[in-house]
Amino acid sequence: MEKIKMTTPLVEMDGDEMTRILWKMIKEDLLAPYVELNTEYYDLGLEYRNETGDQVTVDAANATKKYKVAVKCATITPNAARMDEYHLKEMYKSPNGTIRSMLDGTVFRAPIVVKGIEPCVKNWKKPITLARHAYGDVYKNTEMVIPGPGRVELVYTAADGTETRELVHNFTGAGVAQGMHNLNDSIESFARSCFEYALSTKQDLWFSTKDTISKKYDHTFKDIFQDIYEKEYKDAFEKAGITYFYTLIDDAVARVMKAEGGFIWACKNYDGDVMSDMVSSAFGSLAMMTSVLVSPHGYFEYEAAHGTVQRHYYKHLKGEETSTNSVATIFAWSGALRKRGELDGNTDLCLFADRLEQATLTTIEKGEMTKDLALITSIKNPSVLNSREFILAVRKNLDVLYA
Ligand code: NAD
Repeated sequence: MEKIKMTTPLVEMDGDEMTRILWKMIKEDLLAPYVELNTEYYDLGLEYRNETGDQVTVDAANATKKYKVAVKCATITPNAARMDEYHLKEMYKSPNGTIRSMLDGTVFRAPIVVKGIEPCVKNWKKPITLARHAYGDVYKNTEMVIPGPGRVELVYTAADGTETRELVHNFTGAGVAQGMHNLNDSIESFARSCFEYALSTKQDLWFSTKDTISKKYDHTFKDIFQDIYEKEYKDAFEKAGITYFYTLIDDAVARVMKAEGGFIWACKNYDGDVMSDMVSSAFGSLAMMTSVLVSPHGYFEYEAAHGTVQRHYYKHLKGEETSTNSVATIFAWSGALRKRGELDGNTDLCLFADRLEQATLTTIEKGEMTKDLALITSIKNPSVLNSREFILAVRKNLDVLYA
């Protein structure tokens, strides 16, 4: 078979530890035999980030702006222990945070649903994709311990010096208070990323806040979403046969539990933080979650939701066998290749992405899987494969699809 050609480069961001090992195997064993890979490579491994003073992360984000599609391997976010381990010049920021702020994007996390790994919620048949607004609210709050009786007020001083005051509470004893904020610009970007991603994946979009209680703060989120929907996306949604649905957060939670899945659920920062962990653990495994950063300007960056699987890497370094799940990293590649194919009108590349995913799921459904899945599968007597064997088993099923 002639290898599939790529007309536009895909931005490739390599990473750290065990996922870096998997990355190389996936490229060599699953991609290179079928695709003439055309990538612009950025090494986001911690050593090279340190060598470049983290410039490589900025360059990779800029390349994503240029080419629109990127695939990223998991990377270490340095802490004190990593400073010593890697002799770092600085405690660099999380690459994901740097890239997200440069692309102004929203992260969408979706579980990979496969027969044999059943979600705890019986009626969930299709993935529920969670979109979390990643700016402001309680994450950028200012808090105060109130020692005793007194007034707490919110004071807004306009550029011309005029003051507007709102009473928070007249304290008669000790207590606590906090101030939070958000920005219309950020909420608008969040809304556009959600509408774009819903159109791109042809899924309904749900959005929920607590606007009945928070009549100004949360209501502003609701109004901004509604306004952008009416003005910019309503026609496209109707054409695509998908809906935008706003409901109260408590109603959303109740509906999600009874739904089949197959939609995107957009949440404010805190709700998204909590709900994404609930949804991912109820679907089975962190190793089976994909993640895509979508910017309102139409840039897409695909990755696995999990980290670098440090514990397995140390085993690997000692020469011990590992059974690390590569599914989410494989799906990061297939997601990025499919998006590249869609943008370039490259149907062969899109078909390859579909087949790569199908081969991966078939492998698990046939009972061949890594240890983390073997522990939770409903399939009787699964074969537990090591990291490399699993990838080679996927390759076999992929070869069948291309035979
Ligand atoms: P982790 O996701 O690497 O591991 C968490 C737990 O889940 C571990 O017990 C691990 O064994 C298990 N696990 C995760 N993925 C697995 C897989 N594919 N197969 C089998 N088991 C898997 O998170 P961590 O241990 O908290 O962090 C390790 C490093 O990853 C840290 O340096 C952190 O900064 C980084 N990290 C990066 C990203 C990212 O780049 N997106 C996300 C999270 C953490």
